[in-house]
Amino acid sequence: MTVLALLSAAAPPRMLVFGMLALGPALAATSSNPSAVLLVGGYALATAFTISTWQGLLGTLDQFLRLVVVVTITVISWAVARHHRALARGQAGAAREREMLVAFAEQSADAIIVSRLDGVVTSWNGGAERLYGYTADEVIGSRFAKVIPPERRHALDQALAELADGRQIRLDETRRICRDGSERVVSVTVSPIRDELGNVVAAAATERDITDQKLAAERSARAARLESLGQLAGGVAHDFNNLLAIILNYADFLADEITPDGADDLARIRDAADRARSLTGQLLLFAKREPTEVEIVDLNDSITCSGELLSRSIGANIRMVCRTHSHPLPVRANRGRLDQILLNLVINARDAMPDGGVVVIETSRAGAQARLTVSDTGTGMTPEVRDRLFEPFFTTKPADRGTGLGLATVYGIVGDAGGTIGVDSTLGIGTTFEILLPLVSEPATAPAECLETGPAHGHGERIAVIEDEDYVRDLVIRILREHGYRTTALSEENLAASTLDDASLLITDIVLRGRPGPALADDLRDRHPGLRVLFMSGYSDAELRRRYDIGDATRIVQKPFTAVELLAAVDEALSTPPAVGSAPGSSAQPGPSP
Ligand code: ADP
Ligand code: MG
Repeated sequence: MTVLALLSAAAPPRMLVFGMLALGPALAATSSNPSAVLLVGGYALATAFTISTWQGLLGTLDQFLRLVVVVTITVISWAVARHHRALARGQAGAAREREMLVAFAEQSADAIIVSRLDGVVTSWNGGAERLYGYTADEVIGSRFAKVIPPERRHALDQALAELADGRQIRLDETRRICRDGSERVVSVTVSPIRDELGNVVAAAATERDITDQKLAAERSARAARLESLGQLAGGVAHDFNNLLAIILNYADFLADEITPDGADDLARIRDAADRARSLTGQLLLFAKREPTEVEIVDLNDSITCSGELLSRSIGANIRMVCRTHSHPLPVRANRGRLDQILLNLVINARDAMPDGGVVVIETSRAGAQARLTVSDTGTGMTPEVRDRLFEPFFTTKPADRGTGLGLATVYGIVGDAGGTIGVDSTLGIGTTFEILLPLVSEPATAPAECLETGPAHGHGERIAVIEDEDYVRDLVIRILREHGYRTTALSEENLAASTLDDASLLITDIVLRGRPGPALADDLRDRHPGLRVLFMSGYSDAELRRRYDIGDATRIVQKPFTAVELLAAVDEALSTPPAVGSAPGSSAQPGPSP
């Protein structure tokens, strides 16, 4: 501009050159900087003004007009520069926004997947990599079908057609298959993407993993269902127990007045009422309404002791493996009930393996909890069974084999001990039950005595056993034989025919299908006055003693018992003289002698 100014000053007629000073601001406009334009325009005007002034005030009319041109061009250039600047800023902002969006999409926990309308993936974010396990490189360029379960793939084309029509697709819940073959449940929104002309060119899917959420919801729904079932069962069982107490008491009153024929019928009524009591007892356990004594028990000990016994009686075609954690696992629980948990789970495992298999019982530590797992290689179960497993009276077994109370009881006991129980099962492969109990910091009280610690031992004494549960009878007989006793299994039917001259002790269950144990014991003692008696029972001690008039001197071993407990009771019974206090009363069962 300075050169132009000097030129036009040197050659006054060349007004054109003078006018060309206006080029300055016009050129400055390309910088998109309005201030620069104003600066250059100001300089051009000042220069032009200087030249014209130098050639007479404001110069000629031409010169004046050219000054006006410089001013006009400066103003126009300023406006253009401003506009450019706004435009450039907008573009930079949009680019930044785009970058942010890309970063956001990449880092989103949701899978964000873009595909063409033929289903070929063009974009696969980090969320999708994390969720499905496929990297972007593996998926981009191929069809999206990979993660869709085979039976739902036909729906993909339909979905793409809908998207091409501009419709959005929402699936609240659908399944996907990950690279490792595992399944996830996701919620999906797929939106059509349009180009500038409004044509749909692609589809963008946002997929959110809701698997855990759904599992948690299912779990809490199941827990709520069991909770309300527990309340119902507990209420009914409680009232029922009261009614049963009345029935049993009045049956006792009647027993004194009745003829021998009627006594038989009465025995049946009592027996039925007894069985009903056992059911209500189990229901109360499920409903967590049975108070128990708790102590600190090392879960390992408890498993070792009852596991050992179970393994011997579970059946020849089933192998049982016990693996205990290397450190103690003290939990606050009732020892007998822990045994009951294991017994129920192992019996179920046995039932699930009619052709044999393996049961693995394992304890371990899981954070602040002790874990007990019982796994079998049995039939497994369907999701429907899995869902209702813990409900009282839910069973898939024939009426004479299953009560459906086993797992309901386990559930109640575990809940009572502040623990949780879960199950994992695959049809045809097997089942694993997992129980978590809170660990306590105090060490376990008196270490459980196991077979290994040297229980009492017999010297060939003969012991008669009456028990109508085959499983329990075999167990008892086995324990006795392995510890130096000889045994004879008796039942109501073969009672009269058996000669028990050399028997020192009778062990009998109290509640039997036919006549109760105390009545049978009475019959036998009529014939063999020297026979000592030991009762076994799964029901509450005090109640039974009262009903059958069993004196305190006669021991009742509570089921389920450990071998040590049974052997200790046998030892004690054998060491007391037969007649003293061990005779069960006859008022409970004044039936005819055979
Ligand atoms: P029950 O054994 O009397 O049927 P449970 O409450 O113990 O009652 O069990 C309920 C049901 O759960 C069983 O009938 C069976 O269908 C199923 N179940 C339990 N444990 C297993 C297992 N280990 N394997 C397969 N199914 C099982
Ligand atoms: Mg069972």
